[in-house]
Amino acid sequence: MALRAGREFLAIPGPTTMPDEVLRAMHRPSLDIYSDTMVQLTDGLLRDLSRLFRTKGQSYIYIANGHGAWEAVLSNTLSRGDKILALESGRFAVGWGEAAAAMGIDVEVLKGDLRRAVRPSEVEARLRQDTDRKIKMILVVQVDTASGVVNDIAAIGQAIKAADHDALYVVDTVASLGCMPFEMDDWGIDIAMSGSQKGLMTPPGLAFVAANDRARRVHQTAGLRTPYWDWTLREGSEHYRKYSGTAPVHLLYALRQALDMLFEETLDNSFLRHRLLAQAVRRTVETWAQGGVIEFNISDPSERSDTVTTIRMNNGHDPAALQNYCKNKCGVVLGTGIGALSGKAFRIAHMGHINAPMVLGTLGVVEMGLDALGIPHGAGALEAAIKLLSDNVRP
Ligand SMILES: *Cc1c(COP(=O)(O)O)cnc(C)c1O
Repeated sequence: MALRAGREFLAIPGPTTMPDEVLRAMHRPSLDIYSDTMVQLTDGLLRDLSRLFRTKGQSYIYIANGHGAWEAVLSNTLSRGDKILALESGRFAVGWGEAAAAMGIDVEVLKGDLRRAVRPSEVEARLRQDTDRKIKMILVVQVDTASGVVNDIAAIGQAIKAADHDALYVVDTVASLGCMPFEMDDWGIDIAMSGSQKGLMTPPGLAFVAANDRARRVHQTAGLRTPYWDWTLREGSEHYRKYSGTAPVHLLYALRQALDMLFEETLDNSFLRHRLLAQAVRRTVETWAQGGVIEFNISDPSERSDTVTTIRMNNGHDPAALQNYCKNKCGVVLGTGIGALSGKAFRIAHMGHINAPMVLGTLGVVEMGLDALGIPHGAGALEAAIKLLSDNVRP
């Protein structure tokens, strides 16, 4: 017996569920890429991306995924042999560092831990040791999608300031932009990057970078610049330069629609919606954890992301069995554990186009799987989550 007929639900951290309005926005003929309509579409999106990143700096749109935006950041600002510092808190800053190393950059990883956020004091201490200012850039993620951690980006910015260090401060917001507060200018960030397919409810294929004036000055002398990624070339006056070639018209239609929906909801409401739905997930997991098998990957509750929750399974229980049950019996696709958490954890994404029934439905299906597979877990988890939501969402 299976209960999976009906729409399959992706609870994976990207690509995420797209609104029907976003899908429909792409179902139309292409544009003359030399038309005023095209130019206006681009101008509006670039303006709104800077608004999302909360910066007076310049935004760029690439036909790429997050890995592409990583490379865009590195190639525009660094030279072969430059030293940079990647702040470990899971998988992604380290992965970004690996890309940099492959480009000939000297990458030091500030050792972190899969189960906690970056500690600003450790960043400050490392930077204070760098007396001859060898470190040119600091890479960190706001949300690490593998570990489920949220880093305190403002506090790390303060730590860099306290050390009086001039390295560029560069932040990955692929799994947080539009879902959790981010203040590029106020938090002292020089460059931020993101992608289309997670919190931004748009198909995979667009990547975004925003750079402030300081980053654009450093760019002038960067030795790793290449024509496709190059900011200066993209600032040329002909429209096609904005994309180093043909514009990805349909993805831009989709992004326009998604951003319109996000701004209509308001960013503040989106942040609060993500927070409450994440709290419902956390309340549920807390209760399941009473059975001694389920455990949060991130130990400190204040360091758990509002966009994805990484859940460990202890005592030899196999997350794959639970994932298979949820998918094959109920049509819910959970995220898998990646990196060091492979085979040890599963993930529930709660970012982008999600609402209470999507999250409560996913939690209900996971609990059904725990029951059916005989995996010990505390009782009343869903009830507690519903209570939390009904207490916070009043008539
Ligand atoms: C998904 C993700 C990436 C990589 O994005 P791709 O589009 O898969 O290349 C980078 N950083 C974070 C934090 C992510 O969640």
